[in-house]
Amino acid sequence: MRHSNTLTGFATRAIHHGYNPLDHGGSLVPPVHMTSTFVFETAETGGAIFAGEAAGHVYSRISNPTLDLLEQRMASLEGAEAGLATGSGIGAITATLWTLVAPGDEVIVDTTLYGCTFSFLHHGLERFGVTVTHCDLTNPDALKAAISERTKVVYFETPANPNMRLVDIAAVSEIAKMTSALVMVDNTYATPVLTRPMEYGADLVVHSATKYLGGHGDLVGGIVVGHRELVDRIRLYGLKDMTGAVMAPMTAMLILRGLKTLELRMERHCASAARVAEVLNTHPAVATVLYPGLPNFTQRALAERQMAAPGGMIALELHGGMDAGKALIDGLSMIHCAVSLGDAETLIQHPASMTHSPYTPEERARHGISDGLVRLSVGLEAPDDIIADLVTSLDRLSGGQLLDAAE
Ligand SMILES: *Cc1c(COP(=O)(O)O)cnc(C)c1O
Repeated sequence: MRHSNTLTGFATRAIHHGYNPLDHGGSLVPPVHMTSTFVFETAETGGAIFAGEAAGHVYSRISNPTLDLLEQRMASLEGAEAGLATGSGIGAITATLWTLVAPGDEVIVDTTLYGCTFSFLHHGLERFGVTVTHCDLTNPDALKAAISERTKVVYFETPANPNMRLVDIAAVSEIAKMTSALVMVDNTYATPVLTRPMEYGADLVVHSATKYLGGHGDLVGGIVVGHRELVDRIRLYGLKDMTGAVMAPMTAMLILRGLKTLELRMERHCASAARVAEVLNTHPAVATVLYPGLPNFTQRALAERQMAAPGGMIALELHGGMDAGKALIDGLSMIHCAVSLGDAETLIQHPASMTHSPYTPEERARHGISDGLVRLSVGLEAPDDIIADLVTSLDRLSGGQLLDAAE
């Protein structure tokens, strides 16, 4: 007899949780349920499933067995009761927030957010009478002063995209628990391998599954996990009625495949990024390296407390500012200039003109995203090749005139 839901190791659950091949004709790999609708045995059973009185699937905008397995597996990996897969990370964020807020309510968010999350809040939610308040959540006392009974959600990323700010999940959750506000964490950068926000008191965790969870740059997807009652509401309102941001079954299959190697990939991403960060940190062309594993990272103590390892993402700033950053990117040969992150390929991009261009220049200045910042997603190639490519391009900068121009 197999008890696939009593397995304890992270990698073991990422491979087995919620699935027994013997229930599926012996198929080692879960089948992909490519169907839009589900057949009811009788009109009566159909009515009972619709009424929520009997278990069963109705229509793939609401649920689907392949998505169901991904949702259970991600809930297990994050230590949550339930999960809901969505068509994108923004689909998960919007379906969740449309469910939790009404006109007159307030959402408190950190200073730095991913560009399209920022634009959803300010160009989307705010148009419908929801107040969006930015608060420096790296200082939990600032939240104490800002939060009130009007606050329905406290939302943040840790580490934040793109400038690597960390937020103390336990400290923020403790303050939010004194009100009725829910704590919602975007865990895309850390993944449940490094940080499980539910363990620190978060109510909901969202992901862009496009990034590390899928891990191979071949899909767009999202997921939200949390308390079952909340996730059920998000499914039946935020997903079913408000966004329709459903994930395709084939995408769920690819993410289930990605999850099998998530822990293994994160170990390599972290080990390589630590080496890359160290090399960048001592290069004369580099002014600042933001990486939670470096001894000079200002939130180092929090990183050690809250992250199992410092992650695969690095932000850096060159002495020559934005022009030098662009020259660094253009001088690379193996490393590609592209947005997205968490892929096998090392990717580099310039947030001010790319991922964070939904912010106006004034907003970027106010939200701590400097124009010279370069974002690096360290991939799974041989670390020596990643370092050699970066150093070759950086050396060309230090030898040239670009560095004298600024500062
Ligand atoms: C990419 C990203 C998102 C958006 O996810 P999509 O899958 O592109 O919709 C949200 N949050 C963070 C931190 C991201 O990096």
